Amino acid sequence: MNHFGYRNGVLHCEDVSLEAIARELGTPAYVYSDATLTRHYQVLAEAFTGRDVLIAYAVKANSNIGVLATLGALGAGADTVSGGEMLRAMEAGIPANRIVFSGVAKTEDEMRLGLERGIYQFNVESMPELHRLSRIAQEMGKRAPIAFRVNPHVEAGGHAHISTGTPETKFGIAWHEADAFYDEASRLPNIDPVGVAVHIGSQIMRVEPLREAWEKVVSLARRLRDRGFSISRVDFGGGLGVPYKDGEDPDSPMLYARQAREVLGNLDVRLMLEPGRLITGNAGVLISRVEYIKERDGRTFVILDAGMNDLMRPALYNAHHDVLPVRTPALGAERRAVDLVGPICESTDRFAKDRPMPPLKEGDLVAFMTAGAYGATLSSQYNSRPLVAEALVRGDACVVVRRRPTFEEMIALERAPDWIVSG
Ligand SMILES: *Cc1c(COP(=O)(O)O)cnc(C)c1O
Repeated sequence: MNHFGYRNGVLHCEDVSLEAIARELGTPAYVYSDATLTRHYQVLAEAFTGRDVLIAYAVKANSNIGVLATLGALGAGADTVSGGEMLRAMEAGIPANRIVFSGVAKTEDEMRLGLERGIYQFNVESMPELHRLSRIAQEMGKRAPIAFRVNPHVEAGGHAHISTGTPETKFGIAWHEADAFYDEASRLPNIDPVGVAVHIGSQIMRVEPLREAWEKVVSLARRLRDRGFSISRVDFGGGLGVPYKDGEDPDSPMLYARQAREVLGNLDVRLMLEPGRLITGNAGVLISRVEYIKERDGRTFVILDAGMNDLMRPALYNAHHDVLPVRTPALGAERRAVDLVGPICESTDRFAKDRPMPPLKEGDLVAFMTAGAYGATLSSQYNSRPLVAEALVRGDACVVVRRRPTFEEMIALERAPDWIVSG
């Protein structure tokens, strides 16, 4: 469900035409729908009505301040993986007591930031991290509420590169060593082991593999409680997938919630969730303009002004994005297989190969659908292209939530060394 659709032959985001946005912002540009963001958050929240739940939105999926503020105002917390993400979440008005800090490489400075601000929970991933956190908390005279992220040895996720619950990946502590980790945590000063966490991957289409991981977490939580630990929170992670094309039909948030309730049973804990893609994926598109049509060796290359630096998922994961013309093609126009490529000097700068597309010509606009998650956050300035602009639409209002930097801003942090003597 999203709020992108054709009106009078032009693709709109809510009540705003993508042509108007392209005129105003230039291209490439991401456009997000407030109504879709809100709906996705609320559908999930409502599926857990009656249960104590904290939905800590995974900031890395889309960390724009406008998006974070929108979700924060609805009651969302934030799952963060760096000091920068924590600061963004707080800047967007998400209170520290709804912020979780995850990630395998938490630095001392990041730990200090989290402790100073009083974040809700550190999801700890290793013994040396636990010891470091205890030492820093002690130095600061603070207590660190922690959950261990366990690696449940469950395979899931839409692609090997986004599967995180198996022993070969760097994530989490070993499932069979969990008790020993909690024992160590209870012995260390300034550490409060309050929860158990898991996150097994992304773009998971069926809830069944999640059940296995969640059951392990719940059985661990019960055992720890029996052993005298005050486990008051269980974090089921994120990972539920979204449809990227026709025929893809991920299990619904309702099914997901039903399974979570079943697995939790009568365990009286606060449930925590860390959805990213589920909230923002279908809430955003990337608009791009056709620069050239190039015919060569029997192939047609549609060369766009968006590149892999703006939307990396196809190059990184071989991911599919539907690409729609912003103006509906003439009735009866025939589709033809083309390669959709960008301006970057890399062969992987190709969004689609042999993709049937309606006729396109120089200057036409297209929209990459389902680009709201892992789109702008993965963008770069490769090839010295300015970072992609972003807009947020609500009804007939459109706000530029990140403007495109100028060339001067792009190079402002750089300088040539003084030893250069110009010849
Ligand atoms: C990436 C990540 C998420 C979000 O994953 P989605 O597939 O976007 O829901 C949640 N938790 C952790 C620890 C992550 O690394």
